[in-house]
Amino acid sequence: MTNAIHPARVRFAPSPTGRLHIGGARTALYNYLLAKQTGGQFILRLEDTDSKRLDPAAEGEIYDSLKWLGLTWDEGPMIGGEYGPYRQSERKQIYNELIQELIERGHAYYCFCSQERLVKLRQEQKKRKEPPHYDGLCRKLPNEEAESWVQGGESHVVRFKTPKEGTTTAIDLLRDPIQVQNNTLDDFILIKSDGMPVYHFAAIADDHLMQITHVFRGSEWLPTFPLHVLIYQAFEWQQPVWAHLSVLLNPTGKGKLSKRYAADPKKGAKSVYVLDLQEMGYLPQAVNNWMALMGWSYDDHSELFAMPELIKAFSLEKLHPSPAAVNFSKLDHFNGLYLRNLSILELTERIQPYFEKAGYNADSESLLPIAALVQKRIRTLADAVEIAGFFFEESINPPPVDLIGKGMTAVESALAAEMAHKRIGLLDLAEHDAVETDLRKLAEELSLKAGQLFGILRLAITGQKVSPPLIATMAIVGKSLVLSRISEAIQKLKQLDHSK
Ligand code: GLU
Repeated sequence: MTNAIHPARVRFAPSPTGRLHIGGARTALYNYLLAKQTGGQFILRLEDTDSKRLDPAAEGEIYDSLKWLGLTWDEGPMIGGEYGPYRQSERKQIYNELIQELIERGHAYYCFCSQERLVKLRQEQKKRKEPPHYDGLCRKLPNEEAESWVQGGESHVVRFKTPKEGTTTAIDLLRDPIQVQNNTLDDFILIKSDGMPVYHFAAIADDHLMQITHVFRGSEWLPTFPLHVLIYQAFEWQQPVWAHLSVLLNPTGKGKLSKRYAADPKKGAKSVYVLDLQEMGYLPQAVNNWMALMGWSYDDHSELFAMPELIKAFSLEKLHPSPAAVNFSKLDHFNGLYLRNLSILELTERIQPYFEKAGYNADSESLLPIAALVQKRIRTLADAVEIAGFFFEESINPPPVDLIGKGMTAVESALAAEMAHKRIGLLDLAEHDAVETDLRKLAEELSLKAGQLFGILRLAITGQKVSPPLIATMAIVGKSLVLSRISEAIQKLKQLDHSK
């Protein structure tokens, strides 16, 4: 038996109407995986025919998001390709020719009905409790007459001449066949009065012309799926393999993922936008791994798939249609794992922009030892700044009361800090073990728990209750700064005592 894999031609076809979110990015990812797995092509097509909904910033954000995720395309706007243009607004001529063909084949017609007539029609249908639909008035117009009206500049749309009889069967890879009675379908519009095609026509025409083999798209297209099949049949084109991907749900599992909900930290959510996840310090490999599992699984336990493994393991058979709740703790979990897998050098490079953005002048040489210290303690790259930003602060100003050791008075704390100051003055901070042993001994001599003494020192030196390991931190901060910060802390503790 031969096991030939046919190279897939797949496309991600966003409408540049808003920011790219994880729903769209997951679709792009599955397309990319299939293209890479089969040695095929991943195509980016901009569906920008609805000028009213265009957002000028969206296109750039789509490119940046895909690039950040590493989902690079083989054909698309800007880079071009054999099947271009890849921006639908530049393909008007192509659609016009196809629409002519469809009219000649008797599967489409010009409609001249005014908005007023259509509104009235809808009101009457509503009164009669009928679903809104076009009543087919212009369907009966002789073609030549309609043509001459069009030539005369009459405003018009082009509608599909949906068959009145029979049933249409639409085959989705993930579901049972969908069957609809044709007489329940409307004569839907293919070309709007501005001459632009609607999605139903442009996407189908392009998928055919661009020789797309598999269409992955959101399940919001399931209701109109039979219409798309009808267009294929009307042209006698071969259909691609269709897969309508599972719906993403809010983290609670209730309701379709809403952008507002998913950005609410109180609900355990972060953001649904790809570039926000980047800014929050997630790694693209973690985001890809996380998204891949929202609608696809390898088996019931394997979870960790870096991109090369994903490309190998991905399979159409294991895509599933059941709705998936977006789980941000899972993203944190994956991110932690991928962060720990980075080399210190790579982690340094990754965290550097976050330090810079926070206003710290952090060169890679000084960041390198810090990256090693924080690697096990962070869930996101941005966390590194939170716990290690103090390394780049000239002065730290912890609230004086925070300097008081656990279960101690200010006087006791000042005394402990003074003793530690003396002891540290005699130590070589590079000798981590010796420093630790010595400070633990000091705690014992002062009848303190090591945690009490270390707590005071941690606050004094880092200004934070949580920090990277204290002894290693002191070595990086350097002896003179460690000593001067402890001295400052002693002063503050003493003042605190006087002010009592
Ligand atoms: N432009 C459509 C959208 O953004 C694409 C759907 C498809 O992939 O066919 O929803």
